Amino acid sequence: FTIFEESDLEIELLRELRDMSNVTVCARFRPLSSKEIRDHGDSTCIQHLDAETFVFKDEKGEDYRFRFDRVFDQGSEQVDVYEFLALPIVQDTVNAVNGTILAYGQTGAGKTYSMEGANIFGCDGNTKGLVPRVVDGIFECLTQANVMTVYTVKLSMVEIYMEKVRDLLDLSKDNLQIKEDKVQGIHLLGATEIYISDSAEALQNLSSGIANRAVGETNMNMASSRSHCAYIFTVQQEQHRRVKTGKLVLVDLAGSEKIEKTGAEGKVLEEAKTINKSLSALGNVIKALTSGTQGKLNHIPYRDSKLTRILQDALGGNSRTVLLCCCSPSTLNASESLSTLRFGARAKHIKTSPRVNSIRDKNGREQMEPFPTKDESYERTL
Ligand code: ADP
Ligand code: MG
Repeated sequence: FTIFEESDLEIELLRELRDMSNVTVCARFRPLSSKEIRDHGDSTCIQHLDAETFVFKDEKGEDYRFRFDRVFDQGSEQVDVYEFLALPIVQDTVNAVNGTILAYGQTGAGKTYSMEGANIFGCDGNTKGLVPRVVDGIFECLTQANVMTVYTVKLSMVEIYMEKVRDLLDLSKDNLQIKEDKVQGIHLLGATEIYISDSAEALQNLSSGIANRAVGETNMNMASSRSHCAYIFTVQQEQHRRVKTGKLVLVDLAGSEKIEKTGAEGKVLEEAKTINKSLSALGNVIKALTSGTQGKLNHIPYRDSKLTRILQDALGGNSRTVLLCCCSPSTLNASESLSTLRFGARAKHIKTSPRVNSIRDKNGREQMEPFPTKDESYERTL
């Protein structure tokens, strides 16, 4: 028999195949919590078939088969999640291609654990989440980068709560406006951008952003599960007076549970409904993006919420996008997990068209390049 070695060309081809594919959708099941074990024993509602496929059994015993790009089981490590879904995006960001990583799921399903880790500073290196690993990854890529290129890395951190975008790095900016232009695409006007020169500096700023989120929490009724938190990294490179920028956005979304189940009443219920609207808006955008006939452009209701407006590029435009569907493995949460998994299955059909962002050539003219070759298959098909 013949052993084929993956030549550089083949690796490049594999990469392109992945580039042309849709939004990458992964599922992650956290370990059973002690409460789940106490209330329902250690039985789970999933049977893993392989790294991509599993059968999900709901409370009524119905079986559903799901296939995603990767399924992380209860024993998966943070590093596995990072290497599969974030590392390729980090490398792209450094090469001026935008990326987005979204964590979706009901409250308690493991979104923040996946994004930040048990502790943002990762006292235990193993439990470090995607955000601190992305920071390390960016600086690691820069150490291997061309010495002739000057890189700058910037961090912004915002929270969307009750349809207001709050700057977590400067609490006096509590209602940032979203703007769109040819050069920067969709961006937050006046959001604080902190220049970071190494991982330690980034972590320090991230942890004060996280602390600012917690400050609001006491008056906002556990806002963290009812708000979306975005960590935004911008990597700009300059070579021969040509500037390229890649933006990587990680979003820890609000809990996707149905409000009726949370037992909220009165004002809290009204508040929760407003916040839930943005996740419904996200669902509607995904529906509109995936239900169009090929070649015909649907109206996509990006403007229905701040969240969908901020994610406009991630969902229908210039970004490599990953959705991580976080779930409890317990039968107790089967209906919420099923709704999360169905959301993921629908999102799998979204196509985006990432490209290398170049804002100025050496004559100072604005320009954009297709990514990574001039291949027409990156055109939007929706
Ligand atoms: P969410 O942000 O979705 O509301 P969390 O990330 O806060 O949920 O997770 C809820 C609890 O489960 C936390 O105590 C967290 O540490 C734990 N947890 C979540 N995912 C994992 C995991 N993969 N491994 C170990 N513990 C986890
Ligand atoms: Mg959380």
